[in-house]
Amino acid sequence: MASLGSAPAPRLNRAVIFLGPPGAGKGTQAKEIARLYGVPHLSTGDMLRDHVSRGTALGQLAKPIMSRGELVPDEIVLAMVEERISRPDCAKGFVFDGFPRTLPQAEKFAEILRGLRLGRPMVLHFVVDARQLMRRLTGRRTCSVGGEIYNVYERPPRVAGRCDNDGGELIERPDDREEVIAERLVAYERQTKPLVDYYRSQGLLEDVDGSADVEAVTRAVVGVLTRAQSNA
Ligand code: AMP
Repeated sequence: MASLGSAPAPRLNRAVIFLGPPGAGKGTQAKEIARLYGVPHLSTGDMLRDHVSRGTALGQLAKPIMSRGELVPDEIVLAMVEERISRPDCAKGFVFDGFPRTLPQAEKFAEILRGLRLGRPMVLHFVVDARQLMRRLTGRRTCSVGGEIYNVYERPPRVAGRCDNDGGELIERPDDREEVIAERLVAYERQTKPLVDYYRSQGLLEDVDGSADVEAVTRAVVGVLTRAQSNA
C-alpha cells in the first residue's frame, strides 16, 4: 500500500475526477487516493449498484440499462450526485470515478461545484491500451463484503476467490461479460471520451499512464496532484 511519508495527510480541497475507459483502473486508484488524502471516494457505478441490490425504484429503472452496458439517464445520475456531494464529508474534497460520463453531466457538475464553492475540478485521464483493458475487465473480481478490487491475472488474492482483507467472497460483476464489455466500451468512445477534450481545453486535465502496476500508477497520480496543489 502506498503512503505519503510520515507527514500528515495533505489537503485535497477540490473535486478530483478519474476519467478513462472501463477497466483503466479508476476504481482501484480512486479508493487508494481517497484513503491517502482522507476524503470520500465516490463512484456513481457503486451508488447505482447499491440501488439495484436494495431494489429501490431508481435501482429498478437502472438495472436493465446497466445490464446492457448503456448509460443511465443524466437527470437520474445528477440528482444522486448533487445529494451526495452536498453532504458535509465532501466539503474538503472528494475523488470521483465513473462520473461525469457525458458532456451534459460535466456542465451541470461544474454548476453544482460552483454552488457549493468547491471551485474547479482536477481531472486525471487514465490511458490504457485496448488489449489490457479487456484483460483487466474479464479478470476483475470484487469483494462482496468490502468492495476491494482484484484481478485474477494482475492482482490475484492470496487465497483464490477470497478477499485478503476480510475473507469475503470475490464476485464477477454481471456487466463484465464480454458482450456487455463491448457495449460499455462503445458508450465510452461515443459519450465519455469527448470529455477528454472538454477538460483539456480548460487546462484541467492531466494524462496518467494507467498501464503500469497499481503502486506505480498511485505514485504518478500523487505526483500530479502534488504539482497541481503547489501551482494553485
Ligand atoms: P462503472 O462501475 O463506473 O463501470 O458503472 C457501471 C454502470 O453504471 C455503467 O455501465 C452505467 O450503466 C452506469 N453508470 C455509472 N456511472 C454512470 C454515469 N455517470 N452516467 C450514466 N451511467 C452511469
